[in-house]
Amino acid sequence: MHFFNYKGNELYAEDLPVRLLAEKYGTPLYIYSYKTLLRHFRAYDEAYKSYPHVVCYAVKANTSRAVLRLLAKNGGGADIVSGGELFRAMNAGISPKKIVYAGVGKTEHEIRYALKAGIMMFNVESEQELLEIDRVASDMKVRAPIALRINPNIDPKTHPYISTGMKKNKFGIPIQNAIENYRLAAGLKNIEVVGIHKHIGSQITEVSPFVDALKRILVLLDELNSRQFNIRYLDIGGGLGIPYLDEKPPRPSELARNLLTLINKRKITLVMEPGRSIVGNAGILVTKTLYLKKGTGKNFIIVDAGMNDLMRPSLYDAYHHIIPVVKNRRAYIKADIVGPICESGDFLAKDRKIQNVNQGEYLSVMSAGAYGISMSSNYNSRPTAAEVMVNGKRHSIIRERGTYEDLIKDERVPSYLR
Ligand SMILES: *Cc1c(COP(=O)(O)O)cnc(C)c1O
Repeated sequence: MHFFNYKGNELYAEDLPVRLLAEKYGTPLYIYSYKTLLRHFRAYDEAYKSYPHVVCYAVKANTSRAVLRLLAKNGGGADIVSGGELFRAMNAGISPKKIVYAGVGKTEHEIRYALKAGIMMFNVESEQELLEIDRVASDMKVRAPIALRINPNIDPKTHPYISTGMKKNKFGIPIQNAIENYRLAAGLKNIEVVGIHKHIGSQITEVSPFVDALKRILVLLDELNSRQFNIRYLDIGGGLGIPYLDEKPPRPSELARNLLTLINKRKITLVMEPGRSIVGNAGILVTKTLYLKKGTGKNFIIVDAGMNDLMRPSLYDAYHHIIPVVKNRRAYIKADIVGPICESGDFLAKDRKIQNVNQGEYLSVMSAGAYGISMSSNYNSRPTAAEVMVNGKRHSIIRERGTYEDLIKDERVPSYLR
């Protein structure tokens, strides 16, 4: 469910015509719907309300301050993967007590920062990382709360680049080494074992991988608690998919029903880390048609948004619906919708059936709220796109369009070249 719908011929973002926003703010332009974001966050909060729980939004999906602030104001926590994300989350007002920290390459500096902040727990991904956290915590004379991220070796049936819980992936501690690593953790003076974590991948559109992974984790959890561990937090990760094309992922409530049945009466605080399923369908990317070009046996629609603005099609061959901002009755053509970047991999869609477009007309790339702006770059020296949040009839700029000056502001030229 989202709030980007046609009224008559015009695509609306909540109660505002997208065309007007594109004219006012320029393109490429990310537009987010406040109501959609809130609805998705609440869907999780509601689904798990029978258990103590924290919805730790996966910051990397969309790091924009206004998005984080919205979630913070509604009681959301954060799942972070870097010191930079910790800074962003706290800056937006998310309580450190609701922040979990994953990632295979935490540096000493980042560990120190997170210990000082007092986060809920580190989701530890290797034995050496565990020892490093213990060392830093000892140096700071504190105890570090940790969960071990367990790799349950489950195929999430998604794109290989976003699968994380199979034994060939770099993430987590192999489940067969779990007990041994928990024992090691329990013996470290400055480590406090508080949780267990798994996250098996992203854009998962079936219930079964979640269920299979959780079953394995629960066996381990019970075994740990029978051995005098006191595991208080069960972090089930994120990864629930959204419809990009014709996928029919379960709703958070359906997933919750299945998982809560398994968890049953265990006394545990649940942590979950949804990213895409909160922000994905809450955002669109609006782009303007620059040129139409007929290649040999191919049509190209050249638009002003490129792989630097939305990397998913180039990186994962991902599908996004692309629809006209103002509906027309023209015939359908088949075309590649491509950006201005000097790379053949720069496309938003390939061989797409789309109604013919004219120069200057706007197109909307749907479901672009997750892994859109947060994966964007300035490649080809293209300034960062602007972002707008719509709430009913209100529209607010939440990121100014980047400038040429922004592109060079951090760069220095050695004195001998001056
Ligand atoms: C990326 C990530 C998530 C979020 O995944 P989504 O598919 O966006 O829900 C959650 N947890 C961890 C550890 C991650 O790396």
